[in-house]
Amino acid sequence: MTLNLNIAVFGGDGIGPEITDPTLKILQSLSSASDEYALSFGVAPAGAAHYASTGEALPPSSMEIARNADAILLSAMGLPDVRYADGTEISPQIDLRKALTLFAGVRPVTVRAGQESPLKIPAGKEIDFVLIRESTEGLFHTQGCGELTKDEARETLLITREISEKLFRFTFELAANRKKSKRGPGQVTCVDKANVFRAFAFFREIFDAEAKKHPDLTADHAYVDAAALLMVQKPWEFDVLVTENMFGDILSDLGAGLMGGLGLAPSADIGLEHAVFQPCHGSAPDIAGQGIANPFAMILSAAMMLDWLGIKHGNDALAADGARLRHAVETVVSEGRVLTQDLGGRAGTAQAAEAVAKALETL
Ligand code: ATP
Ligand code: MG
Repeated sequence: MTLNLNIAVFGGDGIGPEITDPTLKILQSLSSASDEYALSFGVAPAGAAHYASTGEALPPSSMEIARNADAILLSAMGLPDVRYADGTEISPQIDLRKALTLFAGVRPVTVRAGQESPLKIPAGKEIDFVLIRESTEGLFHTQGCGELTKDEARETLLITREISEKLFRFTFELAANRKKSKRGPGQVTCVDKANVFRAFAFFREIFDAEAKKHPDLTADHAYVDAAALLMVQKPWEFDVLVTENMFGDILSDLGAGLMGGLGLAPSADIGLEHAVFQPCHGSAPDIAGQGIANPFAMILSAAMMLDWLGIKHGNDALAADGARLRHAVETVVSEGRVLTQDLGGRAGTAQAAEAVAKALETL
């Protein structure tokens, strides 16, 4: 029986549509070649350009498409000169995260042999770890609503048992899946500041309780400052890291830096029911419309979507295609012949995506 899945697609702003089109083409061809699953796509208009022309950044009809979809694929939204009347940035992706309770931000950090990185990586080592960032509370809890007087500013750090339990359950499941597919040793590190803040001691306590339920996985802790140091000194020793919202925000940019920039950094925001997959980069208005945007982070986000759907629905063909798609991008990057400008090459968006499609045929 074919598994039919409906994907909500937010083409977004700036380079968004340019990197979405070739990504959908690749997904379409994978879907057509498979008897095990079939993907269909529902286009959801939203973003800054949509706001400029209609007065709505995330119309209810697009929210419905997202809510009813099996997964959500999003490129990038927001433009520097389009803002809400109160001057705040237009970012429907944050509205989606809130509305769909996407508590786990998943940021894989990978540097394969032959890939450029600002780090000197010892021969025989590759970087392949996942950073999981709690995305709904923590130090972002009072975002925009902290207390401010003439002489004092105050923000609150919120850690709840409910969200932390969900976060850690998700984290250990992800580590178990990585171990099963031989991508990692099954080691989970809780990144916190439990030596200074009671909130983080609480966070760690909940982590330890979840760890006890997974005797087949190893669990340890790192203070966030030490974790930042280790991410630069020996990131190849990490498997799965889990942390609070603000720490995760900072460490995920450090992770993108290890990968040589944003052009290869995919991400996912995952909840119990819903999940959004999107590149870490923004809408890059400075290069929009020129056909030179790097589509790899978007394609890698689509690969993560196939992984997630494969695990969620117990569909091995989907999970296998997710891995194949990721390998196809890694192959093109390692070969270094067809790269976009941001990666030091001269290829355009279409050429780069075609190289991935071609690599897929041989994997
Ligand atoms: P946001 O606030 O939405 O995260 P940002 O201001 O951080 O956006 P980006 O849109 O991510 O900025 O762009 C940062 C820089 O990286 C820009 O110079 C942009 O051209 C470049 N860039 C981002 N994504 C890509 C891409 N896919 N291909 C090539 N260059 C990119
Ligand atoms: Mg940014």
